[in-house]
Amino acid sequence: RYKEKWAATRPKYPATTLALQHFDDRYGSELGPLWPSVRVALLSEKKYGALLNIFCSDASLEELQAQGCRDFIQDKEAQTPFEHTSDGGAQNESSHVSPTEAEAESLQPPPPQFSPNLQCFVFQRGDITRFKPPKPDQFGLLGYYLMDAASVLPCLALDVKKGDAVLDLCAAPGGKSLVLLQTQVMMSAGFICVNDLSASRIKRLKQVLHSYIPKQFLTDNKLRVTNVDGTLWGDEERSSFDKVLVDVPCTTDRHSLMEDDNNIFSKSRTGERRMLPQLQLQLLLSGIQTTCPGGEIVYSTCTLCQNQNQSVVEKAIHLAEENHNIQLEVVSLRPLVEMFRNTFHFAPDLHLGEMVIPHLAANFGPIYLCKLRRLS
Ligand code: SAM
Repeated sequence: RYKEKWAATRPKYPATTLALQHFDDRYGSELGPLWPSVRVALLSEKKYGALLNIFCSDASLEELQAQGCRDFIQDKEAQTPFEHTSDGGAQNESSHVSPTEAEAESLQPPPPQFSPNLQCFVFQRGDITRFKPPKPDQFGLLGYYLMDAASVLPCLALDVKKGDAVLDLCAAPGGKSLVLLQTQVMMSAGFICVNDLSASRIKRLKQVLHSYIPKQFLTDNKLRVTNVDGTLWGDEERSSFDKVLVDVPCTTDRHSLMEDDNNIFSKSRTGERRMLPQLQLQLLLSGIQTTCPGGEIVYSTCTLCQNQNQSVVEKAIHLAEENHNIQLEVVSLRPLVEMFRNTFHFAPDLHLGEMVIPHLAANFGPIYLCKLRRLS
């Protein structure tokens, strides 16, 4: 009889179990009464969004609509009607003087505008249908890219405009780069650079780009793919970009609960995990330095952890001023949150940034995002 020698080779506590213990300790207190429902959603099957490939000549749009899903970005019926908030949509601003009604009116930020053809399809709340794998068209390009729909939000928050030079500092495997590249083409943005430290992940990113973007866009001088340490970027290319996405490595909470392989909670990676907030801070500071004055930065993660989210942003704002004489302001993402409340669950009352929290009826995220504007 075959006897499995599991005791000698299997760790006593698999990394997924260690991750769950860690989250119970930490998020039990950070999220309070929200944690049990977030926990059950994290342990359940996640939902995807299908980012439509504007370069694909296939009938993917009709196919997605026929599957019964809807585009959450452009479809006004899927969105919450835009209403001006009483605080002018502002968040974290320390004005002690209440504006008059007329002043408040003039302070209202306009509703967010997105590039017209950017579409990401999702199934309705509570509908857990899976997307079919995308098919290639006659040129071999795939009709849509499956990703966590909440991952589109940091790209929308970056608000790429005509002529912008854009940097995606930690880009692989490239889901957000695809959103940014499509936006760039549609908005005639100036230039986009996608970077990642990992050579193997850059290889994967290039495969993704080749499966979704026509050759002429990959070879022209408006796109650069680089494979360098993002923490060094700020020293080497100061004040060079209008928009910078800093989508940092993190504890990837959902993945850490599902897969023992390559899990950041395995004992052998404890040191790396403890150093994550430090690495995230260095990457964000580097992203800030590489943004030109007046330019904007979006910091994002896929963890619920405050130490990797709000604390990193707070420290970066402080150190940017202290060490580099760079002043930043926090840009409110409240209009974006109000617009997409029908699609995502957002954490209530975050003092800095916004966070999509997993929910059984809309099992996207976690995604934390915070937007900064460089003032000097
Ligand atoms: N933005 C990607 C997307 O949407 O597909 C996901 C990025 S993932 C959360 C974080 C990435 O950071 C990983 O691909 C990792 O290789 C990269 N990374 C880690 N350390 C880095 C560094 N020092 N500089 C640049 N990239 C780094």
